[in-house]
Amino acid sequence: MTGVGKIARLEQEMLSARMRLIRKINTKPEMIVRRLVHRMGFRFRLHRRDLPGTPDLVFPRLRKVIFVHGCFWHQHDCRLGAKQPTANRAYWLPKLARNVERDHQACRQLAGAGWGVLIIWECQTRAPHNLPALIRRLLKPP
Ligand SMILES: [Zn+2]
Repeated sequence: MTGVGKIARLEQEMLSARMRLIRKINTKPEMIVRRLVHRMGFRFRLHRRDLPGTPDLVFPRLRKVIFVHGCFWHQHDCRLGAKQPTANRAYWLPKLARNVERDHQACRQLAGAGWGVLIIWECQTRAPHNLPALIRRLLKPP
């Protein structure tokens, strides 16, 4: 491997380590949603790995889940999501496309198993006044 190749490889490894970290920690948008849902009086489980896509908030008795998606990582159709990586595009673009495909698949599987799904985007948590209505609509008894 050439020196340049080695550096590119190293950069890629550092980026993917950072991405793993970013995906794992309790992100700020997720904390905003958790606090809000909690204040609204609903109790939930976190990150149930046995469900498709490991939903961020799970309401087992209501059979509902909420995903809180970062706009960039999950390619939201908004200003934040439209931002394209400039470095290592060959690495990032397919990775982001795989995220989107995984999200669709998880939603299909959950809906197929009778779960109600709400996706809350990072950009929505920046001006969260509309969120209580969305959350109430998801969680209201049938
Ligand atoms: Zn967005």
